Amino acid sequence: MKIKSISIVFLAFLFCCILSTTANSQPQSIMGFSPEAAQNQITLEKTFDQLVRPEHLDEWMKYMSARPHHVGSPYDKKVVDFMAEKFKNWGYEVTVESFQILFPTPKVRLLEMIQPTAYTASLAEPPAEGDASSALTAEALPPYNCFSIDGDVTAELVFVNYGLPSDYEELEKLGVDVKGKIVLAKYQGSWRGIKPKVAAEKGAIGCLIYSDPGDDGYFQGDVYPEGPFKNEYGVQRGAVMDLPSSPGDVLTPGYGATSDAKRIPKEEAPSLTKIPVLPISYHDALPLLKALQGPMAPTNWRGALPLPYHLGPGPAKVHLQLEFNWDMKPAYDVIAKWPGSTLPDEWIIRGNHHDAWVHGAADPISGLVTLMEEARVLSELAKSGYAPRRTVVFCAWGAEEPGLIGSTEWVETHEDELKKKAVAYINTDGTSRGYLFAGGSHSLEKFFSEITEVVDDPVKKVSVLKRRNAVELVNNRPSWSYYQLGALGSGSDYSPFFQHSGIAAFNLGFGGESSGGEYHTMYDTYEMYKRFKDFDFAYGAALAKVAGRTTLRLANAEILPFEFQHFTETVDTYTEEVIKLAETLRAQTMKENKLIEDGSYLLTADPSETFVLPKVKEAVPYFDFSPLENALTQLKAQAAKFDELIKKGVKTGQNYTALNQVLKDMERTLTRSEGLPGRPWFKHFIYAPGFYTGYGVKTLPGIREAIEQREYKSVNTQIEKVAEVLQLYSGKIEQANKLLE
Ligand SMILES: [Zn+2]
Repeated sequence: MKIKSISIVFLAFLFCCILSTTANSQPQSIMGFSPEAAQNQITLEKTFDQLVRPEHLDEWMKYMSARPHHVGSPYDKKVVDFMAEKFKNWGYEVTVESFQILFPTPKVRLLEMIQPTAYTASLAEPPAEGDASSALTAEALPPYNCFSIDGDVTAELVFVNYGLPSDYEELEKLGVDVKGKIVLAKYQGSWRGIKPKVAAEKGAIGCLIYSDPGDDGYFQGDVYPEGPFKNEYGVQRGAVMDLPSSPGDVLTPGYGATSDAKRIPKEEAPSLTKIPVLPISYHDALPLLKALQGPMAPTNWRGALPLPYHLGPGPAKVHLQLEFNWDMKPAYDVIAKWPGSTLPDEWIIRGNHHDAWVHGAADPISGLVTLMEEARVLSELAKSGYAPRRTVVFCAWGAEEPGLIGSTEWVETHEDELKKKAVAYINTDGTSRGYLFAGGSHSLEKFFSEITEVVDDPVKKVSVLKRRNAVELVNNRPSWSYYQLGALGSGSDYSPFFQHSGIAAFNLGFGGESSGGEYHTMYDTYEMYKRFKDFDFAYGAALAKVAGRTTLRLANAEILPFEFQHFTETVDTYTEEVIKLAETLRAQTMKENKLIEDGSYLLTADPSETFVLPKVKEAVPYFDFSPLENALTQLKAQAAKFDELIKKGVKTGQNYTALNQVLKDMERTLTRSEGLPGRPWFKHFIYAPGFYTGYGVKTLPGIREAIEQREYKSVNTQIEKVAEVLQLYSGKIEQANKLLE
């Protein structure tokens, strides 16, 4: 309470200083603001920056990551209460919504090699020297993959690289079959849940995933606690549900997991794995890999362990036994609203999750404390008479780690209200030092780029845009004249907003200068974060400035700052990509079929190896992309016209209600109620997580995946669906243009 009253006095003082120093400076424009409103907004943002205090981030992280706080743990509830209390003290309307969700935790974990030698895996992460938090193992969930089924399997082992579909194609050529076997896959290369999914499709009966030191261990740098990289015992926990089909609670697919919701039996839940899966350290993988024989793994599959990487199968034979407590646990969402002063029924939503696999200092607390500081500063501004025009909703999500559950259930429960009120969703998750990484809706790219020009990198003292551009240039990529948003795949809480409900979204964070191997291990602690991550929280503060501006500008804009030329150009690029993809696949297939038929493949095979001749593949037909290209032509014309009209400027005092209603619903026009092929939960037809990549994005997903997966019959249908979506989108811009005329 004391801090608050001091800050308000300080704020009043600051306002005076800023007003007097900026009186003579050049007027700056901001998208969506009239000249007068832009000046007020700039003053407000400068005050916002002055009020951001990195020491708060430090203090709150220290408390919130002090103990393991996974879903359903006592400390997760403490973290929730701590935040709710803070938001209340700052003056927010706070509710804690709880959902009842299925959250399996391990009961039995046994992995032993029974041939050719005996070895029992330790499956443990011992405390690290100098890191007291890492010794709290009794409270922590041991390493496991959440939503693996129970299982007791014994079989020969096969090494499958990253376990991607392309890895199995390679194995097939090498004559190695995984049917009836247990596969050993490396972490990385895809989202982890893809590995057991593909393994099961190929007939494997069990799946082990380990972290090779080549990827995030000693090959990259010193290991914890000497350095930030993964030591020999570190294990990445994590969910393995079929996330690209649908995230959220597995017993209530597509609707909210409220206490009275109808639940499907666990046995019918489509997104559980089909085979048991367990993550292990390389300490435990080493004896297994050493015991493998059979062909050598392809050169680019080999890791950094001191051994020849053989594929198997066998003679290593392992026994894997897994049993879980299939309990219902509460997922708590903390929802803190600051009602808008003039447009309370238009919401800007800002979120980050609070649950962790263990202590989660980096993931998710580093992003969450940033969000909390934004909320605190916003409340100080609002209480001094600068309340946001639209309602700002701060959300701390529960149960993100097992499958974006808290956010998905909240969106599914409040879908009708969100359809009416949501303008945009701004997400963060773990963050660290380095450059700004941002993905999002391309209709907000120009708007976001303006923000990256006015927030400075705390160390290099140039704009975060300039710094990011330097990274592109140094890595031989084209220069960025504006901030180029990445396309959103999945892996954090924006998915239900963006890909399910069609709400314009961002995902923001800093990184690139502080890599490590702590992700989802016992060693993602406050002690680790202070030594190897954003130790002084300077970049956390910079993120608060970027995300804070994004929220405040969207909240205060007179005309919502959407724009369509960036979007159109982006979709144009995606269209060129899918056309090229079809051409490349056609040429490749023709070439490979020829090599099979003319015997070249057989002539190169080593007679000592178990080479198997690949099968001739169906030729790739020609597809009709013209509906898509025609829709794009129409879109380009409307987007250009909007640009021309909006250039006339925003007029003070003019009523833009009708225009804003159209703009607010633009992103939703890109969704279709039937959803993507085979996964109706995902309704966005421009961006989706890849069905076989997991987190990695697939743009124009219906078309792209039909080509990639050689489902040629559905390609033209998907082209027509995207064309229809773009036509509707053009129609909406036309409506906006009429209102602007
Ligand atoms: Zn996270």
